[in-house]
Amino acid sequence: MSNKQLIGFDADDTLWENEVFFHKAQMKFIELHPHIKDPEEVILQIEKENIKFYGYGIKGFILSLLEASVRFSNNQTDLQNIDKIIKIGKDMLAQTIQLLPEVEETLQHLSEHYMLIIITKGDLLDQQRKVQKSGLLKYFSFTEIVSEKDEQTYLEILEKNNIAPKDFLMVGNSLKSDVLPVRNIGGTGIYIPHKLTWKHEEVDRTFDLERIVELKTISALKVWLKNQI
Ligand SMILES: [Mg+2]
Repeated sequence: MSNKQLIGFDADDTLWENEVFFHKAQMKFIELHPHIKDPEEVILQIEKENIKFYGYGIKGFILSLLEASVRFSNNQTDLQNIDKIIKIGKDMLAQTIQLLPEVEETLQHLSEHYMLIIITKGDLLDQQRKVQKSGLLKYFSFTEIVSEKDEQTYLEILEKNNIAPKDFLMVGNSLKSDVLPVRNIGGTGIYIPHKLTWKHEEVDRTFDLERIVELKTISALKVWLKNQI
């Protein structure tokens, strides 16, 4: 056992594909609304405004798309489009889980040496469904589904489990949610970029790199951990 006792994993775009489905849904929305100028920007803006009401996840995203559709319809809302947007959302919620490469082998290996947990944000029901359907549950001690992944959230999880921040490592594809808050409370943030990451998760790259590690793939974690002992 190394000095790192607890390893937290982000789920979406760290263990399985997620953002790609939002991207595809957004493309379908744009096809239905060719008259909206800068649609990506418009949608992002509405989503950002709505996080404080709905939190993260597909339901909030779909409500934001509905809002965009209504807001840009000049009071002539197309009910067929509304119906199609609702269908886009239900299809997203029914999407099968697509694990990212080398995830299962890596978790299997690490679970023999470390205590692993999932820390994810989003809709409670949808995140539970994905965790269960992923087949990965057996590698994790428990799952935390939270509203926001900030310093306070991480501190509360560690306190509950009697883990000192220095013994905690968090793995994820978001610098903003997975890496920086954990580093800031005294843990280590392992950043594994995914080619698609939501614009809302982007941060200025002006932070110092102390206790931040960037790995190309999840399987590189095994080697990195071995070298820490
Ligand atoms: Mg993620």
